[in-house]
Amino acid sequence: MNIGIAGLGLIGGSLGLDLRTLGHYVLLISRSPDTCKQAVAIGAVDAACQEASMIPYLSETDVVFICTPIPAIVPTIAAIVSAIRNNAPQVLSNTIFTDVGSVKSAIVSEATKLCRFVGSHPMAGTAFSGINAAERNLFNSRPCVITPSEDREAMSVVRSLWTSIGMLVYECDPEAHDRSVAWISHLPVMVSAALILSCQRESDTGVAQLAQNLASSGFRDTSRVGGGNPELGRLMAEYNQTALLQTLHTYQDVLQSLISDIENGNWDALQVLLERTQAARLLYTK
Ligand code: NAP
Repeated sequence: MNIGIAGLGLIGGSLGLDLRTLGHYVLLISRSPDTCKQAVAIGAVDAACQEASMIPYLSETDVVFICTPIPAIVPTIAAIVSAIRNNAPQVLSNTIFTDVGSVKSAIVSEATKLCRFVGSHPMAGTAFSGINAAERNLFNSRPCVITPSEDREAMSVVRSLWTSIGMLVYECDPEAHDRSVAWISHLPVMVSAALILSCQRESDTGVAQLAQNLASSGFRDTSRVGGGNPELGRLMAEYNQTALLQTLHTYQDVLQSLISDIENGNWDALQVLLERTQAARLLYTK
C-alpha cells in the first residue's frame, strides 16, 4: 500500500518504521525540511515532502495517518483535502484518512465532515517525543481504538493496518473512548502531577532534600506520567475537559474517604479497601 504520514514524531516515526518493515511505501508530509531529511535518513519513510509540494505523491496514496499534536489534526486534514480537491479531485473518494489523537470526540465529529475518516488511538507511547524518539515495535501487543463509521471498507482497511503491526483493535464510539481514557490515562497524569507538586510543598529543606535522596522505584513508578510531556497533559485536559473533571471529582471523593479512615484510625476499614484495590488493579494490568 502507499501510505502517507503527516507529523513525524514519536508516534508517526514509529509507525513509519513498522509499516516500511511490512513492505508498504511510506511518504512523509511534514512542515519541516529538517524532519523530511532526517526521516529518510533513519529509514522511517521512503520519501518526504513539505506540504506545498506534496500533490504529485498524494494521488498515489491509499491511506493517510495524521500524527500531529491534537490541535493540528483537523487543520492538517483540511489542508491535505483542499490540496487534493484542487489538484486531483478524483483521488479524494479513494483516499482514507485516520489519526492517532489521544481524544476522539472533538476530532471525529469534524474530520468526518471533510473526508473518508476513521478515528484511531493507538495506546502506546514513551516519555519521549520528536522524531528521535521513534522506535520499532512500539505498537506490538498494545490496544488500539478505532471509531465506528458507515464506511465499512475504510474501517476494514484501517483495522487491518493496525492489526498488521501487532495492535489489539477495539471498536468504540468517540464518547465512550474519551470517558475510558479519562480514567486510565488522563486522570493518572493529573494524579501523578499532584503527587510531585505535593512533595514540592515540604517546607523543611532538609526533609525535602532527604526525600529526593531516598526516592526509589516506588516514586519512579507513581511519578512517571506526571513528569511526562507537559503539552500532551495540557491537551488531554483541554480536549477532554468534561470526562476528566468527572474522574477528578470521583478521585477527590475517594481521597477524602481515605483521609477520614486515617484521621479516625479506621485501620481495619483501610486494610479492606487496600485488599480491594490489590485485587482490582489486576483488572487493568493483565
Ligand atoms: P511528537 O513526538 O511531538 O510528534 C508530533 C510531530 O508533529 C512533531 O514531531 C512535529 O514534527 C509535528 N507537529 C508539531 N506541531 C505541528 C503542527 N502545528 N502542525 C503540523 N505538524 C506539527 O508527538 P507524539 O507523541 O508523536 O504525538 C502525536 C499524536 O499522537 C498526538 O495527537 C497524541 O495525542 C497522539 N498520541 C501520543 C501518545 C504518546 O504517548 N506520546 C500515545 C498515543 C497517541 P515537525 O516539527 O517535524 O513538523
